[in-house]
Amino acid sequence: MEIDFSEINYIQDPNWRDLHADYEQFLLSMTGPTVIDITGLETKKCRVITTLLQGSEPSGLIALHRWLTTRNVKELPKTNLRFIICSVEAACVKPLLSKRFIDGSKDINRCFGEKEPDKIQIEKYKGCYERAQLIEQAVKEVNPEVMVDLHNAPNPCPTFAVSSKITTETLSLTSFFCQTLVLSDLQLCSLMEQDFSCPTITIECGGRVDEQAHEVAYAGICQIANCEDIGYIQQERGVEVIYLPLRLQAREGVNLSYADHDEGYSGITLKQNIDYFNFGGANQGEMIGWIDGNGLENLHLLNKHGCDVIDEYFYIRENQLVCKQNLRLFKATSDKQIALNDCLFYVVKKTNNRL
Ligand SMILES: [Zn+2]
Repeated sequence: MEIDFSEINYIQDPNWRDLHADYEQFLLSMTGPTVIDITGLETKKCRVITTLLQGSEPSGLIALHRWLTTRNVKELPKTNLRFIICSVEAACVKPLLSKRFIDGSKDINRCFGEKEPDKIQIEKYKGCYERAQLIEQAVKEVNPEVMVDLHNAPNPCPTFAVSSKITTETLSLTSFFCQTLVLSDLQLCSLMEQDFSCPTITIECGGRVDEQAHEVAYAGICQIANCEDIGYIQQERGVEVIYLPLRLQAREGVNLSYADHDEGYSGITLKQNIDYFNFGGANQGEMIGWIDGNGLENLHLLNKHGCDVIDEYFYIRENQLVCKQNLRLFKATSDKQIALNDCLFYVVKKTNNRL
């Protein structure tokens, strides 16, 4: 499929015809990234919600379509709202909403604000970087007072928010969606890391095929639309803050498998039900998989100084990969493609920080 990476479409206050009968037809009616502007009571302010940066993460789109088609159009949101639906082409590949990005292109949420540009990457994926800039521009041009980016995890996972700042506003915004805010200083060239001069959070709504995740996204959109003033809201519920997770990655070229038992595969084998750990975490002494004779050398877990700290988190017991501490895991997935391209999971040592 030939993609026009310079395309971006705008729809102002869509009517029922623009919205089609369901979110799938609505999606198929779009030809590329689409900006939907909704007029609010206070037209000098705008709140921005982005979604579908990855085409396989549907909660934001589903919730947005539900909000647009069920709201009382006479009751305007408190401020203008701008929704940006990003990777439409990937999402339209059949089966719908299953493809993270188009074959041969790059995950667009790794193409924002590259600080040390890798010329070969930028040349190879020129269109993706161009699109990332267009989306960033579409956020900045309305000087948003808040910016929320809606995502899903590939496997079942509780809802959590991610931000690079802990402020009253980011805690309040989080409380619209969930009870966990992950403070992250990871530099992945994601949209959330960009400076929009306003509270900016990512919401991982939950598993991509989980109705509850769509429900979370919908409830959050309603709250953002109806909230009088983000700076002065009573937090909806207590929010637990989790500090600075790291990403566990397989080293380049290492074989990754998933299994219920030790099958003696080379490289790393994670337990087939690795996503269970997204809920309760993994305890000291608990095994999460198996590993070949190269042991921890198969993996790396870099801290922000670029030092490998895998020894602090895991050890090898015979050929089992075992937790050295009580750990919390996020976005653990048995989707091999995502695990190899992105990471096996995010991990943090367990503490209790309920604010
Ligand atoms: Zn995502």
